[in-house]
Amino acid sequence: MRNLVTVDTGLKTHVLPAGAAATATAAGILAEGGLVAFPTETVYGLGADAGNAPAIARLYQAKGRPAFNPLIAHVADLGAARRIALFDGQALRLAEAFWPGPLTLVLPKALSCPVAELATAGLDTVAIRIPAHKVARDIIKAFGGAVVAPSANLSGHVSPTTAEHVNGDLAGRIDLIVDGGPVEVGVESTIVGCFSDPVLLRPGGLTRAEIERVLGHPLQSPPQDAENDSQPIAPGMLASHYAPRTPVRLNASDVHIGEALLSFGPAKVARRECASVEMNLSTRGDLAEAAANLFGYLRTLDKRNADAIAVMPIPEDGLGEAINDRLRRAAVGR
Ligand code: AMP
Ligand code: MG
Repeated sequence: MRNLVTVDTGLKTHVLPAGAAATATAAGILAEGGLVAFPTETVYGLGADAGNAPAIARLYQAKGRPAFNPLIAHVADLGAARRIALFDGQALRLAEAFWPGPLTLVLPKALSCPVAELATAGLDTVAIRIPAHKVARDIIKAFGGAVVAPSANLSGHVSPTTAEHVNGDLAGRIDLIVDGGPVEVGVESTIVGCFSDPVLLRPGGLTRAEIERVLGHPLQSPPQDAENDSQPIAPGMLASHYAPRTPVRLNASDVHIGEALLSFGPAKVARRECASVEMNLSTRGDLAEAAANLFGYLRTLDKRNADAIAVMPIPEDGLGEAINDRLRRAAVGR
C-alpha cells in the first residue's frame, strides 16, 4: 500500500470476546483516547472518542492513507443525540421511528456540540446514529459519550465482517478488538440530511419508501455534482467541504502584511512579524497533532478578519496527505 502511515509497531492489539469484561475494557480504552474495534449491525467499526481530536487523528492514521472524511457519531440514546445536534420536528420523527437502526441523520450542530472539529471535517453539521447492535450500544453506553466508528479496515481494503478480518488489517495499530462473531454483511446506513426539507444523501439499509411513509412526503434528491451534472456526487463528497471566508494562501514561505499565519513545525518563515496573528499546528512538527488542530485553528483564524490565511508548507507523508487535501479544498472555497 502506498504511503502507509508508520505506526508504533510496539502496540499490542488485544482481542476479547464480547461480554461484560470486554465492554468495561473497551470503555476504559476509549476514555483514554485509545482505538477499539467492535461489531455493529453493518460491519466492524473502529471506534474512538468523538470528542477527542488526537484520538481521531490516530484513528485516521491507523486506517492508513487517510482522508479526513466526516465521520458518524454513534450514540446510545436520543438524549445523547440531542446534546450533539439540533433536531427539528421531521428529524425527531425519523429518529423516533428508526433508531436504533441503519439510519444516519446529518443535522446542524448544537451550540456546544462535543464532537471534535476533526470528526466533522470542520463542517457546521454532524452525522449521528444509534446503532442497533447490542455490543456496539453496550460499549457506547459504558463509555458514556459519542463514539465515531468508520469501518475497521485499512483504507482501500474491504470492510471487515469478522474480528479476524480486523486483526489482519489493524493488528499493531489499534488497542483492542471486541470479538462479537461474524456480522451480517449488511448495507451501510441510509444517510438523510435534515436542514429544511429532508434530503436523501446516501441510500442504504433503510429504504426511501419507509422514510417517506413516516415523513408523509417525498425525500429531496441529493445535490448534483457541479462538474458532472448528470451524476449525483459520490458519498465521500456529499458533505460540501469546510472553507473559511478568508482566502487561504498555501505553501507560504513568507508573510504579507495583514495576513494571519498558520504555521507548522519549528521551520522559519520570512517576515513572520508581519502576521496579525499566528497559530502553529504543531510546534514539534507532529502531523497527528497538526491534524487534531487543523479545523479549529482555521476557524479561529477566520474570525480575525485577516486579508488572507498564509499556510506554511506541510509534508505530504502520512497524515500530511489528508491535511494538504483539506487545505487545498479550503483554498479553493466552496
Ligand atoms: P460510513 O462510511 O458509514 O462510516 O459513513 C460516513 C459517511 O457519512 C461519509 O460518506 C460522509 O460523507 C457522511 N457524512 C458524515 N458527516 C457528514 C456531514 N456532516 N454531512 C454530510 N455527510 C456526512
Ligand atoms: Mg469503509
